[in-house]
Amino acid sequence: MYVYHILEKAIQEAYDAGYLGKNILGSGFDLDIFVHPGGGAYICGEETGLIESLEGKRGNPRLKPPFPAVKGVWDRPTVVNNVETIAAVVPITIMGGDEYAKIGIGKSTGTKLISASGHINKPGVYEIEMGVPVEEFIFSEKYCGGIRNGKKLKAVVAGGSSVPILPAELILKTAKGESRLMTYESLADGGFQTGTALGSGGFIVMDEDTSIVKNLWNFTRFYHHESCGQCSPCREGTGWMEKILHKFLEGNAAMSDIDLLFDIQSKIDGRTICPLGDAASWPVASAIRHFRSEFEEYVKNGKNIKDVKHYYRLNQLEVTNS
Ligand code: SF4
Repeated sequence: MYVYHILEKAIQEAYDAGYLGKNILGSGFDLDIFVHPGGGAYICGEETGLIESLEGKRGNPRLKPPFPAVKGVWDRPTVVNNVETIAAVVPITIMGGDEYAKIGIGKSTGTKLISASGHINKPGVYEIEMGVPVEEFIFSEKYCGGIRNGKKLKAVVAGGSSVPILPAELILKTAKGESRLMTYESLADGGFQTGTALGSGGFIVMDEDTSIVKNLWNFTRFYHHESCGQCSPCREGTGWMEKILHKFLEGNAAMSDIDLLFDIQSKIDGRTICPLGDAASWPVASAIRHFRSEFEEYVKNGKNIKDVKHYYRLNQLEVTNS
């Protein structure tokens, strides 16, 4: 809520300076801004889920069309934008669109906020000019400062937990051997077979000690928890995938569970009302695609893998807190 209070204060300052309210700076133009805090549900980041919650209802995404620009809040035409987009309006207005578009490369113009986390020396939110090489972003002192404790890079989730995870060799270079850049096009190069997506800019770096299976279980657990339950593939599939990943972590999975997991995610992908279903399926597909041997190791030797202990502690915490 501290961000809410900062925003409220900034808006009040704008009213006091005459930039908001009636007859702004004598122009005859009126504009009011209201802040409506949400309850924290992930699905309310989806535009129609957000609109439903704004109307005081459960944040269930709507079937589209109609799109919000035609029928949005209380059935009125509504533009839904995120804060980053709105913030970009200021430099675009000041510099002019053509000048702003000179920042970046190709179709990825302007700047982008990257929220870097995980096993790096300098986690934080970085505003980058699009086009910075991924290698520079991870290893230079200007940005993430390299992998902590001198460890090796194992994998990166480049655009938030919903995008495909890539192993070190594919995040630093494309399958064609070109340097991978922090742009929409470069990160997507190779499609989901060998590429990923810039997505929300949630850049998660994993070192050589990271268990991909445990990490995937954590992501899947999250999506299962956040599913609104309207569509069967998402409601049932996320829970089913979480249960199977439990089996891996408990050392009770069979080799056939790897293919079953892949099959379940493929039945969710593209078959739901909102993108949460896709978001839950893509990490599973990519983890199996690029790290299949780790799943196999959990089948053969799961009970002896040290991460299992941590997994039990997490579960215990959940039981204690519920
Ligand atoms: S995909 Fe999941 S979160 Fe989205 S509407 Fe369907 S059940 Fe709800």
